Amino acid sequence: MPTGGVTRLAAGDRIPRIEGMAHVALPREILPADGRFGCGPSKVRDEHLAALVGPGSALMGTSHRQSPVKSLVGQVRVQLSDLFRAPSGYEIIVGNGGSTAFWDAAAFGLIEKRSQNLVFGEFGGKFAAAAAAPWLEAPDVRSSAPGTSIAAEAVEGVDVYAWPHNETSTGVATAIQRVEGDEGALTVIDATSAAGGINFSLHQADVYYFAPQKNLGSDGGLWFAAVSPAAIERIERIAASGRYIPEFLSLKNALDNSRLNQTLNTPALSTLFLLDKQLEWITANGGLQWADGRTRESSSALYAWAEASSFATPFVADPADRSPVVVTIDFDESVDAAAVAKSLRSNGIVDTEPYRKLGRNQLRIATFVSVEPDDVRQLIRCIDYTVDGLRG
Ligand SMILES: *Cc1c(COP(=O)(O)O)cnc(C)c1O
Repeated sequence: MPTGGVTRLAAGDRIPRIEGMAHVALPREILPADGRFGCGPSKVRDEHLAALVGPGSALMGTSHRQSPVKSLVGQVRVQLSDLFRAPSGYEIIVGNGGSTAFWDAAAFGLIEKRSQNLVFGEFGGKFAAAAAAPWLEAPDVRSSAPGTSIAAEAVEGVDVYAWPHNETSTGVATAIQRVEGDEGALTVIDATSAAGGINFSLHQADVYYFAPQKNLGSDGGLWFAAVSPAAIERIERIAASGRYIPEFLSLKNALDNSRLNQTLNTPALSTLFLLDKQLEWITANGGLQWADGRTRESSSALYAWAEASSFATPFVADPADRSPVVVTIDFDESVDAAAVAKSLRSNGIVDTEPYRKLGRNQLRIATFVSVEPDDVRQLIRCIDYTVDGLRG
C-alpha cells in the first residue's frame, strides 16, 4: 500500500538509478506530496486504493452476474449521469476495451455513412483512422497543426461529427458545441481525458465517451458513454440494418447489457470500484463545477509560471485553446526537457515526459482533478530547481 506521496518513493533503494546522466537531488521541502503527474494511467487517490483493499476486497473475485457487482455498475451509471447533469432520455452505457475499442465500435455501429473527424493530435487521428472503414465512405478529415484546434463545419452527407474534448497528446481543449445546420447528424465527443475535469453541457453532444484511467482517477480497460435519444435510435437502426457487426464491438449489445448493469464479458471490477469512489469524491465536493475550478487552478499556475519563465513557454499559443487538464510546456534550447523529466523521475516525480510522437523539447503535466493544486505548485519549484541544477 502506498503511504503517501513522493517521500515514499524517495528511499534510494526503491528508485531505479539512471546510468550516466545528471541527477539533481531535490530538497524534501519542495517535493510534492504525491509525484504522479502522468496523463494516463493517472494518479489514483490513496484513499480510494485503501478502500479497495478495505471494504472493496469483499467484491474482488466475485461474479459480475450477481447483485453486488451489478449494483456497483448501476451506481456508477447513476453517478455519471448525475455528474454530467444528463438531459432526460440520455443513458450511460459501458463496454470493455477502453476508448480505443469504442472507436471501432463507433465505426461498426454509430457512423451510418460518413463521419467528419477533427484531427489536431494523435487521439483525434486514431478515431479518423478507425472511421476509414471499408463499409463507410471515406471520412471528411479536417486537420490543424498540433497545439492548435479546429472547428467542425456542416457538410452534406456527414452523419457523425467527431472530435476530442481534450487532445491529450498536445494539451488542447475544445468547445463542445453542436454543428449548426445539420439536423439529424450526431455530435460524438472523445472525452477520455476531459470527462470529470472540464465543465460542459451534455445538451451539446449525442455521445460523450471516455475511459476512466485519466481524470476519473481509476484504472483502464473499460469505456463509458453518455448517449442521447438520437444516438440510441442510430445504434438500434444500424444494428437492425443487416450490417455485419462483431458481437464484442456491438453498441446495441452494450446498450442492452448496460440497461441490466452488465457487460458482454467480464469487466475489471477494481476499475469499477475505483471509478465509483472517484465519482463519490467529486460529487461530494461539488461536482463538475468544482472539478473544473480545481483543474483550472492547477493548470493556470503552470501556464502563468511558464509565461513568466526565461526558458519555458506554453506550447499552446492561444490561451483559449489551453487545456485545464493537460499542460504542455516547451523549453528553449538551453534546457533539455528529457533530462529534466528523467531527473524528476529519479526523485519520485513521474510521467512528465511529453507525448512520445509529438517529439518536442517539452514537459507534459496532467492537472487532473485528483492532483492537488499544492502539489502542482511544488512541482513548479522542483522544475526550476532541477533546471538550475542541470545548468550547474
Ligand atoms: C488515453 C486516450 C485515449 C485512449 O484510451 P484507451 O482507454 O487507452 O483506449 C483515447 N482518447 C483520448 C483523448 C485519450 O486521452
